[in-house]
Amino acid sequence: MHLLIVEDDPKLGRLLKRLLEEDRHLVELETTGRGGLETALEAPGIEALILDVGLPDISGLEVATKLRESGSSLAILMLTARDTVGDRVTGLDSGADDYLVKPFAYEELSARLRALSRRSVVAPTRVGTRLVNGPIALDEGLRRVSVGTRTVELSPREFSLLECLLRHPGQVMTRDQLLDLAWPYGVAVTLNAVDAYIHYLRDKLGEAGARIETVRGVGYRMAAP
Ligand code: CA
Repeated sequence: MHLLIVEDDPKLGRLLKRLLEEDRHLVELETTGRGGLETALEAPGIEALILDVGLPDISGLEVATKLRESGSSLAILMLTARDTVGDRVTGLDSGADDYLVKPFAYEELSARLRALSRRSVVAPTRVGTRLVNGPIALDEGLRRVSVGTRTVELSPREFSLLECLLRHPGQVMTRDQLLDLAWPYGVAVTLNAVDAYIHYLRDKLGEAGARIETVRGVGYRMAAP
C-alpha cells in the first residue's frame, strides 16, 4: 500500500517507516498535522493514513475531521496514547476507521492495516482505477463496465478477462496468460474456454468488441488506446 504516517515523535515515526518499508509498503512521513493534511490531500495515490492524535499544531482528530469534510475516503488508522473510551469514540466520530492504543506491537499495526486495505477494496463507494480504451471504460473499484454511455453487464469471468486485456493494451496475450490471470488458481479449464469467453465478451461489448483482436494461433490483443 501507499501509506502516509503523521507522527511527531521522530524515533517512532522513523521506526514505523522503516518497518513498513521492509513490508514492501511505500511510505511518506509527516511530523505535523498541517503537513499531514496537505500531503494526504495532495499527494497522489496515498491509500491509508496512520495518524497520531497528539500532534504539535493541529490534532490528529482535527486532521481526520478536515479530511472527511473535504470528501477524502482514505483509510485512517488513528494512534492514541490515551486509552480512554472517550478518546476512542471521538477518534471514530472524527472519521477514523480504526484506532490503536500506544504502545502497540508492530504486528498489531500490520494486522490492522491489512484489515483496512481489505475493507477499502470492498467498499462500494471506493473509486478504483479506471481503465479506458476507446469507448470502453472499466472501473475496478465499482466493478462496472461501460461502452460510451451504455452500462454493460458482465459475468465475473468476463470482467476479469476484459480487465487483463485493458491492462495490456497493444500487447498480444496468449490463451495461457489469460487463463493464468483471469481464472482463479486451481480451476480446471481448457484453452477453448478462453475463446468462448472472448466470444461472449465481444458480443456484449457490441461494436467496441472489435477492439479485441484475434492474433491467429497465439491469442488476443486489445487495440492500443
Ligand atoms: Ca504525538
